[in-house]
Amino acid sequence: MKFSSPIQRILRRTAAFLITAALALPALAAGTGGTAAAPMTGRRSFDALSSASELFQSEITLSLEEIKAREESDEYIPHVWPVRLGEFGYISSYYGIRIDPVTGEGSEFHYAIDLADKPNTKIHAAASGVVVEAMDYGGYGLTILIDHGNGYQSRYSHCNSMLVSEGDTVCQGQVIATMGATGRATGVHCDFRIYLNGEPIDPLTVLDEPEEG
Ligand SMILES: [Zn+2]
Repeated sequence: MKFSSPIQRILRRTAAFLITAALALPALAAGTGGTAAAPMTGRRSFDALSSASELFQSEITLSLEEIKAREESDEYIPHVWPVRLGEFGYISSYYGIRIDPVTGEGSEFHYAIDLADKPNTKIHAAASGVVVEAMDYGGYGLTILIDHGNGYQSRYSHCNSMLVSEGDTVCQGQVIATMGATGRATGVHCDFRIYLNGEPIDPLTVLDEPEEG
């Protein structure tokens, strides 16, 4: 297993904090001092989701103190496993180049880890945030995208059912969906992705060490 060490993860989180702090500097320099400071300044939006992102930005306006508190809190870092690995739960596919699982030929870059388990296994939010997408995403099936407000977003695909709606605020660990095989899937699993400033990153660099089970 290629899990990163706790020190690597702490360094990565620190780097992510410094990046988000740097992005907040223009707002600091503007010196507005009010709640109208633009927390999302400089944050790259995820093109396909720009309308949802606008929804998020229009509904959430945070003071700099609140932004700082969020960035220092693990609650808004998607480190909690959406599915517990154990007797049934396991990682069926890793982040990286792989053979197309449906056709069995050709290679593709898989920007996710796939978490397989029994049908309707509960899927938990990896961090607190706001649901910016809860929709049928074509080949990804029923998909939920959560914006954690600090550059991180997490996405959960192939759900059998969705228990939250766009605009909902969710807490870290909250059950947001059940596992299925909607869309283009060879079996029941959750395709789980983490984006940092709009770019997909390997979820295993952010997730906690998995508990032995
Ligand atoms: Zn996948």
